[in-house]
Amino acid sequence: MTHADAPVPQAATRRARWVGRISYFALPLFLAAIAALVWLTRQYDADEQRSTLISDVLWMEQNLRFELDRNEADLQQLGPDLFAPRLERQTEARLAHLLTQGRGLVHILWRSPDGALVGAMPPLPAPDPDEAADLSLAETPFQLARNIGRPTYGPPYPGSNGKHRFEVHIPVWSDNASKGVVTGIYSLNDIVVRDLPWWFSTRYRVAVLDSDGREIAAKSKVAPLSPQLDYRIPFEPPGHGLSLQITAYKPDTRWIPLLLTASIVILGGAIVWSVRQLRRQLARRQQAEVALRAESAFRKAMEDSMLTGMRARDLDGRLTYVNSAFCRITGYSADELVGLRPPLPYWLPNHIEQRQELLDRLEDIGSTPDGVELRFRRKNGEMVDVLLFEAPLIDASGRQAGWMGSVLDITEQKRAHELTQQQEERLQATSRLITMGEMASTLAHELNQPLTAIASYADGCLHHLQATDTDRDELLDIQRKIGRQARRAGEIIRRVHDFVRRSEPRLDLIDLNTVVRDAASLIEADVRKRRMQLVLDLAPALPPVKADAVMIEQIVVNLVRNGMDAMRDTSPADRKVHVATRLEGHSAIVQVTDHGCGIPADTAARLFEPFFTTKTEGMGMGLNICRSIAELHHGRLTFDAAPGGGTIFTLTLPVENA
Ligand code: ADP
Repeated sequence: MTHADAPVPQAATRRARWVGRISYFALPLFLAAIAALVWLTRQYDADEQRSTLISDVLWMEQNLRFELDRNEADLQQLGPDLFAPRLERQTEARLAHLLTQGRGLVHILWRSPDGALVGAMPPLPAPDPDEAADLSLAETPFQLARNIGRPTYGPPYPGSNGKHRFEVHIPVWSDNASKGVVTGIYSLNDIVVRDLPWWFSTRYRVAVLDSDGREIAAKSKVAPLSPQLDYRIPFEPPGHGLSLQITAYKPDTRWIPLLLTASIVILGGAIVWSVRQLRRQLARRQQAEVALRAESAFRKAMEDSMLTGMRARDLDGRLTYVNSAFCRITGYSADELVGLRPPLPYWLPNHIEQRQELLDRLEDIGSTPDGVELRFRRKNGEMVDVLLFEAPLIDASGRQAGWMGSVLDITEQKRAHELTQQQEERLQATSRLITMGEMASTLAHELNQPLTAIASYADGCLHHLQATDTDRDELLDIQRKIGRQARRAGEIIRRVHDFVRRSEPRLDLIDLNTVVRDAASLIEADVRKRRMQLVLDLAPALPPVKADAVMIEQIVVNLVRNGMDAMRDTSPADRKVHVATRLEGHSAIVQVTDHGCGIPADTAARLFEPFFTTKTEGMGMGLNICRSIAELHHGRLTFDAAPGGGTIFTLTLPVENA
């Protein structure tokens, strides 16, 4: 068989099912992993931001502390010079430097231990009266600083311009005696907010809250949009419940990770969608595969159970498919046959001729509805008779892809048919012999009587003639009796002749061409059996002939059969009997020509004699009867040697109304 119908192994089906299931588990896991990745990335981002915030805040706190400590140290260093009897220019310059270097100090004043103002920078009273009012000069931290001898910070208080301030009091000692206290007044806003580095202020909003949580200084009035990222630390020094609140501004939208995340989500969705589509398609394909497998198993079972051999060939004649019945008929396996080109191993030498005939017929009518009889040679050398039906093989696109042939093994039927035919022929020959024997014995019996009577009358007559006294009357009587018996014998012979001729012909107006065609169809089977050919060449518009159609048919059949008998030794290609009709003057002519052995002169002389035959199984009556029939119709039957060898028999019949 050419189809690969091996059942799909179970393991493969199971594997396919597993592969299908993997996507069920793998896909949600994949999506969950992506979601976790996105969440973790965001979380990591948030942590990162928070830790950055914390470290920045710590940096800021450090910075502030460093600034305050530095100011404290500078003021402490300046202290003794401030309480000197005369303020040095250099001291003034250092004071001015402290106030103008953006270190948060807006005022510096120095007082004697009893609180009396010794000096101030900028000098008091201030040129701006508001500025003067801003000085709280709180006593408690002042006293605390003086008493404990260490710098002390005062609580914040609002200045006249609404901006809060705070003070640092630094005691000044000389020779173990308190010289006074230097007070630095800080603008809360300046030290915390104004002097922030730019990178800090672009990232964070900085605010100072008092002990009640009220905002007393802030970098900007705009509240940050990301309140979740803020940090509060005590602002110490100066202390007194002050705290710093640092809030991160909403960071810039980070487009690249966002786009990446979005594209991952979209791609994930696309993967889910395509996996679903793939699964659907896979399911459909699996269904189709199952259906196809069932269909092909059914077809294989059907083809294997068929008794008709099937074979397909492409347009070049190459075998493309054979079924098991075809393999049984030819004895070759499918592997041995498929792919072969002509000549095929089961062909006989004359197959090419028969094939040509088949191809011609196919070209004429496109298929062979009644089949062509062929003979194949099996692989083991046996002959097999087959009936081949051929039809075009049309592919799915409607084009002819080759030929499909079905082959029936008719060896047995043919053998049986030939056997019955032979038996029938033998029976006919026997019955003819019996009839003839009967006829001969009847004839002998019937004729015996008158002949015996004639013989005895003749004896009596002789006897009388030899005697001296011859009675003339008696002799006359005997002669009359002899005559009567002879007439009776003649009557018997005529009766038998009538019987042999059977009946009078039934004369009708007939078309000779139709009769020839009918005769051809009668003998066709015989022609084919003998592998001969019958070629008709009929003249159109032949006038009708008055004749017995059955008898004329008998002549044609007889002449064709004789012609075929004569061609037994002729080469296969020349084994043709031509039957032609034509009009010649007032006669219609039927001419039967063969390419046989011809008729030698000695045979020619006796050809029409009854019982003359050169064949072992012949009767020798055929031509005799044919000629009688021709004469019955007022016609003639003649013969001639054919130009290329063989014989031409010519039947001439008069045309009606001619
Ligand atoms: P039968 O066919 O029984 O022999 P026929 O009367 O038909 O009787 O033929 C007599 C003989 O004439 C044949 O045996 C054959 O020798 C010869 N004969 C007839 N037709 C032909 C022919 N076409 N070619 C050669 N010989 C022929």
